[in-house]
Amino acid sequence: VINNSNGLEETIRVSIRLRPLNEKELMKNDSSDWECLNSNSVMFRSTLPERSLFPHSYTFDRVFGIDSTTKQVYEEGAKEVALSVVNGINSTIFAYGQTSSGKTFTMNGVTQYSVADIYSYIESHQDREFVLKFSAIEIYNEAVKDLLSLENVPLRLLDDPEKGTVVEKLTEEILKDRNHLQELISFCEVQRKIGETSLNETSSRSHQILRLTIESSARKFKKSESSSTLTATVNFVDLAGSERASQTNSGGTRLKEGCHINRSLLTLGTVIRKLSKGRNGHIPYRDSKLTRILQNSLGGNGRTAIICTMSPARSHVEQSRNTLLFATCAK
Ligand code: ADP
Ligand code: MG
Repeated sequence: VINNSNGLEETIRVSIRLRPLNEKELMKNDSSDWECLNSNSVMFRSTLPERSLFPHSYTFDRVFGIDSTTKQVYEEGAKEVALSVVNGINSTIFAYGQTSSGKTFTMNGVTQYSVADIYSYIESHQDREFVLKFSAIEIYNEAVKDLLSLENVPLRLLDDPEKGTVVEKLTEEILKDRNHLQELISFCEVQRKIGETSLNETSSRSHQILRLTIESSARKFKKSESSSTLTATVNFVDLAGSERASQTNSGGTRLKEGCHINRSLLTLGTVIRKLSKGRNGHIPYRDSKLTRILQNSLGGNGRTAIICTMSPARSHVEQSRNTLLFATCAK
């Protein structure tokens, strides 16, 4: 059990990761307006007078500055949540943030470190037998696609009386070993890149879910005991760009044409906000494909880590602020 800064049991762990200014921002002489104040706070440092209305510092479970490594982000922001899967607890790690803020960069690394730790746990627990299964989903415009299949057909969601929402006909590979998993993850990366070149900007509009399901049972058990099987799933979710959740831009007008509001992203925000206030009451999981697919892992005793990525640049201040508001609501 992780305790948050108030000493309360934590259900959603929220971290912020600032990336360094990129080449484009440096070329424009963009200034770095956000910085990591300490391990829990991010601070806005701009001297622009019109910015003085903003709160100037925001506090989270963990804030990672521009020189942080993905290993640190994993260790302190996601590891405990990811590894709870080996104890039969469902979990989800999200990367949330505007396009080009570092979601994919961070989530790819976090997934790799998680896989390594999960496999070392398995190797050091020879008394139990583990079966690992992998599947991969992309949600684009509320259409669900199997990233392990070459057929480009949208999949339906079905309600299973025992398992809850399941994706019909989704490929589920039984993993032979760690290399096998590595190959499948690389295959998904290629599949997603192909999608990106054929459809403009897919990655900013689509959600990717890599899911690892782990079943384990004792190899030997006393006659009096039954061999109980633990089953749980960990989801690694690289979300669509968070600009897809903004109703308005800085001027208060609707975003330019083509920048469609993403239903799954908007619903996720509502679901997370409600979950962070307590797990009772109506939670609108059924309002989007993403939240339906993740319902089993988000609700109940599911564990969640959200890593919000942001650019420190002045030119992105509005989107960064939206990201911080989302992160604040998730706490
Ligand atoms: P997103 O998935 O949010 O659109 P990416 O992860 O693709 O963003 O990151 C955009 C670019 O910035 C990539 O070239 C990536 O390598 C780089 N980048 C992102 N985060 C960092 C970081 N923390 N340190 C160094 N480079 C980064
Ligand atoms: Mg990306």
